Amino acid sequence: MKGIVVKEVKVGEADKIVHILTDGLGLVSASCKGAMRVRSRLVSSTSLLAYSSFSLYQGKSMYTVDDARIEVQFWNLRQDVVKLSLAMYFLELVRKLAPDETDLRGHLKLVLNTLYFLDNGKRDISYLKPLFELRLLSMSGYMPDLVGCARCGQFVDQGMYFSPQSGDLICRECHLPVDDSHYTLLGSGLLAAMRHIIYSDFSRLFNFRVDAATLATLEKLAEQYLIYQTDGRFKALDFYKGLL
Ligand SMILES: [Zn+2]
Repeated sequence: MKGIVVKEVKVGEADKIVHILTDGLGLVSASCKGAMRVRSRLVSSTSLLAYSSFSLYQGKSMYTVDDARIEVQFWNLRQDVVKLSLAMYFLELVRKLAPDETDLRGHLKLVLNTLYFLDNGKRDISYLKPLFELRLLSMSGYMPDLVGCARCGQFVDQGMYFSPQSGDLICRECHLPVDDSHYTLLGSGLLAAMRHIIYSDFSRLFNFRVDAATLATLEKLAEQYLIYQTDGRFKALDFYKGLL
């Protein structure tokens, strides 16, 4: 079974418990005996962010890691404190938002691909962060409705307003300046990017292009949407933003 370590908790002197996002068991916790010892063969394969092949043994209350072989280490991003803290934030989001299901292969694929681009630097942080947030929310029961105007149903891409609070769109004709002040007018490039992130096939997910100004607004709206929908405070997000 393969998976990525999304959390580790030290237990006593030499042991730890790891939380793994797996390709077949959902999110599981497993104890690693002796993994904190420097010479343990499990040191790197069970470290945070490691994507490894695990042999798990099912005990009474928890799995135990029998063996683990590292597949991908994401070495570059571990050397960069901003990238690393963003990666930690992605892991925190997955832990908190992933549904309690055994098939989280879509979530795993999203995490691995996002970390891959963060690691090799082929996509900017300002591109990856809103993409990850919006796609993860959509896969985890918080999909916004960007099909058309929530009031008249009109599907247009010019002059649409989006609300991070209600997670929907209204068109220019339906928009009321006073009552709808929490709606933000979207440029057509921004709406297209948001629709792409939410509805596109996974194979094309990382292929859209937008200019820097659009990306800045996308980043702001995605984060607002996340905070409104999950009512959450994310420690790793605060830490990441403290570095900027
Ligand atoms: Zn309308």
